[in-house]
Amino acid sequence: MGPLISEEEISRERDQLRLILSNLREGLIALDSEENIIEMNDGAFRLLGPAALRPARGLLGASLIEVIRNASLQRFVRKTLESGQAGVEETISIDLGHDERYLQIYASPLANANLAAAGMAGVGRPGLLLVLYDVTRVHHLENVRRDFVANVSHELKTPITSIKGFVETLLDGAVDNPEDARRFLGIISRQADRLNSIFEDLLSLSRIEQERERGGIRLEERSVADIVEEAVQSCQFFAEERKIRLVREVPEGMRAVMHPTLLEQALVNLIDNAIKFSDPGAVVRVLAIAREEEIELRVEDNGKGIERSHLPRIFERFYRVNKARSRREGGTGLGLAIVKHIAQAHRGRATVESEPGQGSVFKIHLPRLALQGDGTESPGVGADSNGVYR
Ligand code: ADP
Repeated sequence: MGPLISEEEISRERDQLRLILSNLREGLIALDSEENIIEMNDGAFRLLGPAALRPARGLLGASLIEVIRNASLQRFVRKTLESGQAGVEETISIDLGHDERYLQIYASPLANANLAAAGMAGVGRPGLLLVLYDVTRVHHLENVRRDFVANVSHELKTPITSIKGFVETLLDGAVDNPEDARRFLGIISRQADRLNSIFEDLLSLSRIEQERERGGIRLEERSVADIVEEAVQSCQFFAEERKIRLVREVPEGMRAVMHPTLLEQALVNLIDNAIKFSDPGAVVRVLAIAREEEIELRVEDNGKGIERSHLPRIFERFYRVNKARSRREGGTGLGLAIVKHIAQAHRGRATVESEPGQGSVFKIHLPRLALQGDGTESPGVGADSNGVYR
């Protein structure tokens, strides 16, 4: 009787299997009980990056230690082979030089029969199948969340501790001295305002995020000059107090697709900062410039400027160059994070250029969007080359 399956067919099936394995995004590694490699797909090499080396004499039968240079993974394999447990998992990190990648590894035993079929040593113990997933993003998000909770708690604790301290001092008798009482109540009131600003900023951040998750914020086409004018008006009193002159330059007739209240809030945050970090007598300029693919809103000051090392993190929540000064000025460290979120809600970006001692330029880049009938935006050119809708 001739063979039921021809060698050609077997080889074709093997090629198909290889193709499927090499196209998997997940990493797969099959090992025999002696930690020799039976199979390792391209996904595993990709995920392990610099931690994996292809041996010159081929993969089959090469030992795990030869191929994978990662102590945690080696330890995990040894432990799992010894225990023979099914469904064990662990997260390991891979050093990428400039960065780290986090891999989740699931392990399950490979039965002896399968090993024998693959011509590998069974030696009484099953081998191991490892599945590798990239969990770097999840890991990063968890860190962001953890940092955020820690930061919020810290920010709220300072004013609350202060309020509690002064209330106790008042209860302990200071209330009987009208001068002290008045002073302490003033401090309590300022700290309560501070708590209020932090809550308001946190609420605006979460409102913008929620609206975006629900399918985007409703945008409308509006005059850029009007929004800039409203933002400048809101900051006028503060500017006069600090003897700062606000100058605006917006091309006549320029229109943009925007959420007017949010965009105004972003501009107010930037103008407020520019005033805070400028010397009396200085000028803060608010400009709108039409670029080919976007409208650029700029808030420029000739103030204190920001050291280069702080720039990459300046838009993060609660990031401040000088904590004490920011608190004194009533800052929450959330202003620029709000600006960034508002820019992103417009499918745009917020950027900064700054030179210590020379000043800063904060920009909101608004992509040119075309409005659809239902008020949702779609990317496209909705205005002429000057950013003007006619
Ligand atoms: P804050 O409430 O502290 O102003 P922001 O998020 O608005 O928080 O700003 C973060 C930090 O960025 C500020 O503490 C300050 O150090 C720096 N910064 C923001 N705008 C300017 C500016 N125009 N000039 C100099 N530094 C600035």
